[in-house]
Amino acid sequence: MYDIVVVGSGFSGSIIARKLAEECGKKVLLLEQRSHVGGNMYDERDERGILIHKHGPHLISTNRYWIIEYLERYAELVPHNAKLLSFIDGKYVRLPFNFTTLQQLVSPEKVEGLLAKMREVFAGRDRVSIFELVEHADTDIRDYGDMLFKKAYKTYIAKQWGCSPSEIDRSVLERALMCIGYDERYLNKDFQRLPKYGFTKLFENMLDHPDITVKLNCNAFRHLTLDESSGTVFCDGVKYQQVIFTGAIDELLSEKFGRLPYRSIYFHYEVRRANDGLPCEIVSYPQAEGYTRRTEYRRINYIPIETDDTVIVTEYPVIYDKDAEIGNLPYYPVLNVANTLLYQKYVHEAQKYSNLFLCGRLAEYKYYNMDAVIESTFEKFNLLKTKIDL
Ligand SMILES: Cc1cc2nc3c(=O)[nH]c(=O)nc-3n(C[C@H](O)[C@H](O)[C@H](O)COP(=O)(O)OP(=O)(O)OC[C@H]3O[C@@H](n4cnc5c(N)ncnc54)[C@H](O)[C@@H]3O)c2cc1C
Repeated sequence: MYDIVVVGSGFSGSIIARKLAEECGKKVLLLEQRSHVGGNMYDERDERGILIHKHGPHLISTNRYWIIEYLERYAELVPHNAKLLSFIDGKYVRLPFNFTTLQQLVSPEKVEGLLAKMREVFAGRDRVSIFELVEHADTDIRDYGDMLFKKAYKTYIAKQWGCSPSEIDRSVLERALMCIGYDERYLNKDFQRLPKYGFTKLFENMLDHPDITVKLNCNAFRHLTLDESSGTVFCDGVKYQQVIFTGAIDELLSEKFGRLPYRSIYFHYEVRRANDGLPCEIVSYPQAEGYTRRTEYRRINYIPIETDDTVIVTEYPVIYDKDAEIGNLPYYPVLNVANTLLYQKYVHEAQKYSNLFLCGRLAEYKYYNMDAVIESTFEKFNLLKTKIDL
């Protein structure tokens, strides 16, 4: 009945499924273990009508306009430039740390000189990493970088990753950039959007194709068999042209080399009166005990909401353990040298199976944003086409 099996309905699985059906005329069976499509982008309205992203706030931002055009095939997107704050030393400061933040945190006698230096040293630059401050030759710039590092980065990392900054890949810290100027947008990407009616609707539309069958509440591991002798992955005993797997690679291969570590999040929900919400949609709390940030979802809703309530969701990072009651979803891969080597072992092992195709942030053990996973899935799809009968 089907030509190809796809496991997972996040962006990687859903895009591949749609392209296979639409562009290659393939009949696709998509298996999703959760009760809904959309992977971590899944959102739903609560009883008040507030659309809540169940796996943390997701904001589309990209410099590639084709990604926006592609998503607009499946959803109405509304412009949304996220503006965030961070709560440091008892006051709200702009996030990303910009020149306003500098004025809030640096003593009055140093402000003017430091701003002039920053402008001169980083002339023509829009954003810079924290390392460019803490490793700078100029003492004033370095001191400012050190202060931010101590007050915000170090403490945030300790909670988010459960370790010190030196134990985590530098690329993770380089994601949170400093703004050289007064730009208040959290991200400096050109195109920032939110799907007006939510991500779930977008995914439902993407998967709405006569040649795609979606099976929810279906853990693929109950159906897949990896036969080492023939180098084949079977699904319920059938050999399909390809099995596209977007879940965790270590789980697929029975964790034979050990578990690939992830961080997970416990989300705490609190209902407040709407006038007692947050000062902006997302606030980060680097100095708070246990939690990292809070989101007020009605601020990122683009559909009318008739309630005087608001919902604040607080994120408590926890260790990922698929068997635990709390923290059983893999959110962020813990990128460091040891884990990258462990991942490579799994890749090597997976290459033994000729009809197995890995795609997405869990199968590739990568910290992909949505725009990056969309772009990479398009590239992967071109590779996939060389492996199937067209
Ligand atoms: C807290 C958080 C906030 C984020 N915020 C942003 C943001 O603001 N902007 C941004 O661009 N990116 C954000 N991201 C990143 C974004 O979530 C990823 O880019 C995206 O999820 C990648 O899609 P994917 O398809 O690779 O993986 P996923 O979305 O994880 O999809 C994988 C799917 O496979 C399914 N699956 C796994 N194993 C099996 C199995 N055995 N059987 C059946 N199904 C299975 C899972 O249930 C899941 O539905 C955020 C991520 C997190 C964790």
